Amino acid sequence: MSQSSSSFRDFTARLLDYEGALVERVEPEGLEVLAPAPLARELQIPELARFGFAAELPSNAERVGLESDWLERFGNLLGERGQTARVTFPFALPGQIDAERIVEHAVSLQNAVYRVTGVAPAWTRYLILLFQVTAFSDEKRDGIIKLGFNLANGSTIDSFVDELMFSAIEPADSRDMPPALSELPPDLTQTQLQSRVGRALPERIDAQLAPFLSGMQRRLDRDLRRVHDYFTDLRAESLQRLQKHLADEAETARERLRLEAIAREYHAKVMDLQQKYALRVDVAWTQTLEVVMPVQRIAIVIKRRKGERKLALDWNPLARKLDIPLCEYSYTRSMARMVCDERLHLTSPAAQAPCTDCAKPYCRVCHPRQCPKCHLSEGKSP
Ligand SMILES: [Zn+2]
Ligand SMILES: [Zn+2]
Repeated sequence: MSQSSSSFRDFTARLLDYEGALVERVEPEGLEVLAPAPLARELQIPELARFGFAAELPSNAERVGLESDWLERFGNLLGERGQTARVTFPFALPGQIDAERIVEHAVSLQNAVYRVTGVAPAWTRYLILLFQVTAFSDEKRDGIIKLGFNLANGSTIDSFVDELMFSAIEPADSRDMPPALSELPPDLTQTQLQSRVGRALPERIDAQLAPFLSGMQRRLDRDLRRVHDYFTDLRAESLQRLQKHLADEAETARERLRLEAIAREYHAKVMDLQQKYALRVDVAWTQTLEVVMPVQRIAIVIKRRKGERKLALDWNPLARKLDIPLCEYSYTRSMARMVCDERLHLTSPAAQAPCTDCAKPYCRVCHPRQCPKCHLSEGKSP
């Protein structure tokens, strides 16, 4: 039995049990279900039903698989339940970590120095938001983006978001008590969350769609070349005829009209291709998972000229990885950071790049709307 059909069987058993059905495992790889009447009606099954999940079915069993309409039936049954969840994941911390060495690998400051000042066990909350991305063009492409933040410091956790999510939702018999609220970082406000998601998503959507877009670009280039070659040939033939009949006024006039028609038609064909390959991308939030877990918190002091600021980065014991310092402007996945002179903001180099007009470098967190020198509004995230 494959991993996915086995997880699907376990999921089905848990869901139906939760909905009040009597569920029993039957061989090979199936379930026997005694469902209360309303549940049976909702799922369009008899009150006593047998399901099979592997290639070989138990006798009198209906096949339930990811490719059938069962995902949709279970989706309807769940409704809005299951869209947000919170799990406490009491993963054991190792006794000691080499904080200096760990920080050295994860922190890359281009214009500042830092010093590690301490390390201590702590609890944190990770917020993982799932978005469904659908791109429509001459073809359609679906994907899921998992956007994860450490609520203690805003760091994005792209490098271990998958591992964290799948491990945290493994059904475990967790009797450990979650830590007290006072030990945990606070919630984001709705506005903070919206602005963060708005800045963090575009880069990740681009990365998700990159292979699709390059394939699309290749098909578009190929079609444009074909159309161009075809009309170039037509035009060359027409020009030749024009050359031949220079003396014949009526013939010349006809050929000129033909040339104009060729140009018009070429233009129309290019417009058609533009329409065919126009891209629309829909992004919709689907689920949020919060994972509460212990971490080793490493305290750092960052120094830039005469300024100093403190920062705490969490080392995650499951992924054995340290947070990358957040870019306070773009929440990018890339690691390089610069510190701004005015208020010591930490950002990606792009968020402190020179103004495209007057060439003065400036911090986009200090000046999110426009360049402080020439007041040019770049209107676009770096
Ligand atoms: Zn400027
Ligand atoms: Zn700044």
